[in-house]
Amino acid sequence: MKSVVLYPGMGVGHLTPMVELAKVFLQHGVAVTVALIEPPTKSPDFSAVVARAAAANPSVTYHVLPPPPPPPPAAPAGSSSDDGSPAHPIFLMFEHLRAMNAPLRDFLGSLPAVDALVIDMFCSAALHVAAELKLPTYYFFASGAGDLAAFLYLSRLSMTDSFPELVGDDSILSLPGVPPLKAWDMPKEITNGTTGAKAILRALDRMPEADGILVNTFESLETRAVRALRDGLCVPDHSTPPVYCIGPLVSGGGGGKDHECLRWLDTQPDNSVVFLSFGSMGTFPKKQLEETAMGLEKSGQRFLWVVRSPREPDAKFGQPLPEPDLDALLPEGFLERTKDRGLVVKSWAPQVDVLRHGATGAFVTHCGWNSTLEGITAGLPLLCWPMYAEQGMNKVFIVEEMKLGVEMKGYNEDVVKAEEVETKVRWVLESKDGQALRKRVEEVKDRAMEALKEGGSSHAAFVEFLKDLAGIKKFS
Ligand code: UDP
Repeated sequence: MKSVVLYPGMGVGHLTPMVELAKVFLQHGVAVTVALIEPPTKSPDFSAVVARAAAANPSVTYHVLPPPPPPPPAAPAGSSSDDGSPAHPIFLMFEHLRAMNAPLRDFLGSLPAVDALVIDMFCSAALHVAAELKLPTYYFFASGAGDLAAFLYLSRLSMTDSFPELVGDDSILSLPGVPPLKAWDMPKEITNGTTGAKAILRALDRMPEADGILVNTFESLETRAVRALRDGLCVPDHSTPPVYCIGPLVSGGGGGKDHECLRWLDTQPDNSVVFLSFGSMGTFPKKQLEETAMGLEKSGQRFLWVVRSPREPDAKFGQPLPEPDLDALLPEGFLERTKDRGLVVKSWAPQVDVLRHGATGAFVTHCGWNSTLEGITAGLPLLCWPMYAEQGMNKVFIVEEMKLGVEMKGYNEDVVKAEEVETKVRWVLESKDGQALRKRVEEVKDRAMEALKEGGSSHAAFVEFLKDLAGIKKFS
């Protein structure tokens, strides 16, 4: 039996699409084990996601790796940066991933047979283990081809003296395969010069060492970026490994069947509701929640809005948020005045089910890649409100390359004003141009479905990947 181990690293956002990848392996007759790292601080999310994934896919084996051995007392790894200041949380994450090599090696060594290791973009440390065990290694890049093109090029550049200064203004950055990007649309997590940013760039810079890169996109969505990757433009001084566009891998939904918001959507007219949701971590200050509420109210349109408690400035990375007190956070009387046409959900909604519901007509999104693909495959026009990580870049790709959405003005300033929320929501749900945009997204949705079918580009890319893998090592 052919067998692979998937290694999603840390963070729920990276586990979800890996679980979808596991299903694709199974469909192609390949056995899958997912090797998991438990977050160092116990996370209810992690246990819940693993339990849900295990219940939904009993054919996939989940193995939680034991914690790494403690560092020797003389060298407390990761306790501080080079200059002695406290280490950045992202830097600490990479230290932890490095420390996990020992348990990963033990686990892989204990398996009777494994034909390949598939790692998350942050798990470059595992390349050492794979090399030791002579295992073919592939990355699974859970964002798009445009992000991959930009990250490969930037990480290469960061190893030279010509890394551009990206100070968050409107200066333009020209990278192969993607439209011109403004500095403020670049992920500050990789451009702000912190130890965390350097650790990310170092990890990304090792991607060309792999045997190939599986990307969660489909070719016709990002033709320019895919071409630049294949032409080797993004890694100028090293050969680019084969890039396989195997997506869109999107959760099938169905997990939130009994959620009140789906029952509420059942009572709304088709294509009439705008859904607002900002990923697994997006939070806003009270001022922004108030502006958004005022804009939604003035728009007169139906809405379904996921609201979280604002994050305290001194909150620790990954610290869970308390349930929001909606009466305290939203303008006085807002919930009462809009109760006939709006629903506010606290903290979390079954997003995929909401997006696919017939009553949902548009999606205000933070442009996380999973949300982007979920919106596109639901055929919904996107109102782009990027917040962190690579979302600013995704916004540019969605608006300028794919032409599947429009930008919410003010996303890169202190606040997106109520008038902007009102204008864009009305535009997308009421105007002819808004309808035309929806039609366009529906066409792209159909192309996405075609890509996944037998003979489609993503299906063919996966078959090619398996064939190439078989050529690297005996794979029978
Ligand atoms: N999500 C959800 N309900 C919510 C918010 C998010 O189900 O209320 C899911 C969403 O469907 C997506 C994931 O969380 O699959 C968020 O991933 P994405 O890449 O969009 O953003 P990130 O959380 O990594 O910023």
